[in-house]
Order: sequence, then C-alpha cells, then structure tokens
Amino acid sequence: MLEVEQKGAIASEDRRWDSCFLTDSEASIGVYRQAIADAAEEVIRQFASQKQPYSGATPIELVAGLAGTEIGPENPQLLAEILKKVGEKAIAHSVVVTHPRCIAHLHCPPLIPALAAEVLISATNQSMDSWDQSPAATVLEQQLTNWLCSEFGYDAAADGIFTSGGTQSNFMGMLLARDRYAKQELNWSIQQQGLPPQAHQWRILCSDVAHFTIRQSCALLGLGEKAVIPVETDENYRLSPDAVRVKLAELQAQGLTAIAMVATVGTTDFGSIDPLIPLAEIAQENGLWLHVDAAYGGALVMSDRYRPQLAGIELADSITVDFHKLFYQPISCGAFLLKDKSNFDLMKLHADYLNPETNEAEGIPDLVTKSIQTTRRFDALKLWISLQTLGRATFGAMIETTIELAAAAGEMIRADSQLELATIPTLNAVVFRYSSEKKDQDNWINSQIRFTLLQGGEVVLAQTCIAEKTYLKFTLLNPRTTLADVGQILERVKQVGTQFSLSLSN
Ligand SMILES: *Cc1c(COP(=O)(O)O)cnc(C)c1O
Repeated sequence: MLEVEQKGAIASEDRRWDSCFLTDSEASIGVYRQAIADAAEEVIRQFASQKQPYSGATPIELVAGLAGTEIGPENPQLLAEILKKVGEKAIAHSVVVTHPRCIAHLHCPPLIPALAAEVLISATNQSMDSWDQSPAATVLEQQLTNWLCSEFGYDAAADGIFTSGGTQSNFMGMLLARDRYAKQELNWSIQQQGLPPQAHQWRILCSDVAHFTIRQSCALLGLGEKAVIPVETDENYRLSPDAVRVKLAELQAQGLTAIAMVATVGTTDFGSIDPLIPLAEIAQENGLWLHVDAAYGGALVMSDRYRPQLAGIELADSITVDFHKLFYQPISCGAFLLKDKSNFDLMKLHADYLNPETNEAEGIPDLVTKSIQTTRRFDALKLWISLQTLGRATFGAMIETTIELAAAAGEMIRADSQLELATIPTLNAVVFRYSSEKKDQDNWINSQIRFTLLQGGEVVLAQTCIAEKTYLKFTLLNPRTTLADVGQILERVKQVGTQFSLSLSN
C-alpha cells in the first residue's frame, strides 16, 4: 500500500479539498475553527449587538441592498469576506428575536446551549431516517421521545417522533385519525386503497380559533376543508363542551360522521386552553380520535405551577408539541406523540434500502417508519442538551416569568381608557387595540400603529382580527422583556395612535 502511494499511482486521500470539508487534517481543522469563529463574530456584530428589534429596512431597500451580489461567481472568494458582506446586507436586517421588543409572533429567542448543539448537529450531519445514517442519534432521539411521552402522562404503549413543527405534527394527527377510523369501522386501508366512498361524510370538530393547519391538513388529506367543523368558543376563546355536544347531534341529524376532535392547548392568538377532561369524555363516548394541538402550551409541562393546566392531555390519542416556541429552541424542532404506538402501523412503509422488514427481527431501530420525512435532521439533540444545561427549574422559571408578565400587561391595558383588552391573557399572548373616538377608523389606526413601529425599528408587534376588528398582539415569549418595556411600548402605541387619529380630523 505504502509503496503504491509513494509511486503516486493511488493516493489514500485527496488533500485538495481540505479547505472545503472537515477532516482529521490539521489544515482542515484550522479552516473549520476559523470559519465557526468568524461566523459567531458576525452574529455578535450584526445581530446580538443590535439596539433595536429591526433595522426598519423596507422590502425595496432590501432588494436594492442585495442586488449586485453575484450569486454564483466562477472563482472562490474568502469566507471571511462573504460573511462580512452577508452580515451587513442580510443579517443586520434580521428581526432581532432576542430583543425584548421583538414580541410579535410565537417566535422565540433561542437558548445558547441549543446554538452550541446546532454546531454539533450540522457538523455531524446525521440523518434520522435509518440507523446506519445515525446510530447513536437514533437511540438518543428515541430516549428523549420516551421521556416526552412520560412527561405528558403517556404509558409504555406510547411512542412519538420529532417533526419539523406543529404543521407536520397536526398533519400526522389528522392522517392517523382518518386512517384509524377507516380501518376500525370499515376494515378499509386508505394507505392501500385510497379514500373510501364514505369519506366525503367525515367530519372533524375543533374550535373556531383552532390553528389553520387543521383545515390545511384535512384539505391535503382529501377530506376537504369542509370536513372541519369549527365550533364556537366561550368568552375566553375555549371550546365549549356543550357546544360540541350540540354540534355532534346536528351532524348526526344530517347523516354526517364525526371521526375526530381537535383540542388546542394554547391558541395562537389568545393562548386559551380547551377543557381537556370534558372533551376527552365526549371523544370517548362518541368514538372520536382526540388530537391535542399543544404546539404552544405544551411547554407548561416544564412549570410546576402551570403544569396542572395540562390535566387530561394524557387522554388524547395524539399530541402536537413544538420546541421552537416556548421551549426556546432554534427552528425547527417539534414532536408528534402517539398514545398507542401500534397506530404508527397505519402509515408504515418499507423501503429495502432504508428500513427493510428484517430490521425488527434483527433488533435494528429505525425512525423513518414513524415519520413522513425521509432525510431528517438530528434536532432532538438541541432539546436534549438544553434540558440538561438549564434544568427544569430554570425552564419553569422562564415560562412562569412570561406568563406573569402577560397578566401584568393585561392589567395595564385594562386600566387604560385609550386601550381595549380583547380578553384576559391565559399564556403569554396579549391581544388589545388602541381605541380612538373615531370608532369606524380604529381598524386603520391600529394597522398604522403596527406598521409605524415596525418601520421605525422600535417594536415588532403582531396584528390580528376578531369579528372584523383589527387588534394588536404581544406574544411575550422572551423572559428578558420587562413590565417597563411593556409600559413604554404601550405609551408609544398611544402616541402613534393619537397622531393618526388627529391626522383624520385635519
Ligand atoms: C405554531 C402553531 C402551529 C404550527 O406549527 P409550526 O411549528 O409553525 O409548523 C400549529 N398549532 C398551533 C397552536 C401553533 O401555535
């Protein structure tokens, strides 16, 4: 071998690419260290050090700023220079999710241990589809999934899978609900035969403020958006069990078949939590699959104080939980949990090259059989590292801080005659509006407030609509946001609101 190499006929390794890939050579390791350090410096310079939550750049300014960059140049350029350029032109115009006044969406500041985990995840590039592409990663993800199942009150019959987020998890919940019904009631395999003729009569109940991905999933699953029956909520935006019973009777009278119900733990706009125990009872009595969308509120499991609000979640057939929201993980990271793991069989497929049927007999674990993704990131690692680095108490304290801040913000708004609170906050979403004397102009004024504060780079706020009225929304995920920040933001909301209101009288 040595002899061959010395002759130069076959080199054991081609060193030309050492600056492109991370290997065991000193040259490659040096390039890698410098690249990661330079990238971190650029994040610190152009992102972490920002004094405002947004630069205020308009779409036109961003287009102009990036124009003139040759995207696919013929020859190499220095990474350090590219990082500097993209830092100035793009990273500096990010919304600063770590800023205390970036409080629009369910869009969290990511934890530092999770950022370190991302370095491991991307460098090792394990793919979670087959065991031979992710040996230890497969085992670690499975152990974390088992832990999550037990945290949510499931027993050993349960299982789950990491997903790209709530959209995918809700899709899986609706998919299994649909296929289980067909299997159980009609002995029909949708996987093999497609939808049965009866499918056009199937209905899925959820609240009228459930996430739009329930409708989206049903559309994609061939049931049509019409299959989703929105049920009215009470004054706190919770699904009312009485209203569900009325709706079920109506459906029956129309000859339609309810197959599933979705309860939400933490609605996107209001943070409201549907009453899980009475809803689970109704699901049980009527043979409905109960899916709990806890994308947002599932994080209460980390707080001793608020965890009791999840009581009954263990009765659900399936659960959606997101970690890139109140678990403070970088995008993307979510999970789908299933009370009875045998239901994963409904979507099981075998590919000879990935997960041959012989795997089971040979004791080789594979996760692809439970996933609708094939190639999949090792996102479980960042949650695993974060949970251990912070510990439960710190996680709990962060979540509790934000819930208490939202309650105090709600009080502050309620006490102010120029502001109108939509509802008492449940989690950390606060929905309110500026209220002028020109009631018919308030929709326009509130959207102008949001736009003005964004364009000035002062505050990143969200906007929503209830009964044709435009509202503003704080989603107070960041535990570093204080009541003083909220007070100052509300003052600005009122100042800008007053300006626009006066501009109308002139
Ligand atoms: C965010 C959210 C979703 C969608 O999840 P993604 O992670 O954005 O795909 C679904 N349901 C609820 C209640 C959510 O808050």
